[in-house]
Amino acid sequence: MGMFTGKTAVITGAARGIGRAIAEKLASEGADLALCDLQTDWLTDTAEAVKALGVKVECFDADVSKGEDADKVIAGVLDTYGKIDIMVNNAGITKDGLMMRMSESDWDAVMSVNLKGTFLFSKAAAKPMMKQRNGVIVNIASIIGLIGNAGQCNYAASKAGVIALTKSTAKELAARNIRVNAVAPGFIQSKMTDALSDDVKSMLLDRIPAKRFGVPEDVANAVAFLAGDNSSYMTGQVLTVSGGMVM
Ligand code: NAP
Repeated sequence: MGMFTGKTAVITGAARGIGRAIAEKLASEGADLALCDLQTDWLTDTAEAVKALGVKVECFDADVSKGEDADKVIAGVLDTYGKIDIMVNNAGITKDGLMMRMSESDWDAVMSVNLKGTFLFSKAAAKPMMKQRNGVIVNIASIIGLIGNAGQCNYAASKAGVIALTKSTAKELAARNIRVNAVAPGFIQSKMTDALSDDVKSMLLDRIPAKRFGVPEDVANAVAFLAGDNSSYMTGQVLTVSGGMVM
């Protein structure tokens, strides 16, 4: 029996990258899953991979920045599974540029997906969790939300907002036995880091005491810890997974 056998988890942005690794980790511990993404083709790939682990999987085509999609997904999860135990707000985007050149639409797009999307899905999931008097929300922030980054003021502000949202909702929901925590990943191997030049990679690695980029599984392990009973006395916390880059 796995750590999450009998539990239902909703994961946004689950088609690829860190979201897919979180889906595989929670499924490997027995969780039945509801996977959401814009990319339904890739979502099917993730669903096939986790089904092979013997759990139930439902896929939802959803844009996290739309309130009606959040409500539709949570209603669908309740129809299928009857409850929601774990909500992982992972979907996120970047639209980088220096502030002086950043368009209003690039600012709005990043805030809508990263911050508003986390708010909308937290709110929709918290409703049944409050009735159940039980639940866990894990938000994926970023070290950039803690330390800032030139060329990413929209992303940094959105992730700092996710951290503030995490702490505020943790305070609001603790009395209902709902915990809310965040994971702040550092540089994780992805299409984005693969595309960096060797010079930029070596400059970044110089700043990482562990001397390697993280892998999506490093983040998934932290999510599983925060979603499980081993962290039952933790709420409103930000767990940094950065190879020591941020301490
Ligand atoms: P990724 O590979 O780009 O995956 C993100 C997933 O979210 C994609 O499948 C994407 O679909 C989906 N998505 C985007 N907008 C969406 C929307 N409006 N509604 C629903 N799904 C949407 O990113 P990742 O690197 O795995 O990052 C996952 C999370 O970790 C993000 O919140 C990111 O900010 C955070 N993070 C990543 C790193 C890193 O180094 N990779 C570091 C710190 C924090 P599309 O492909 O259609 O866009």
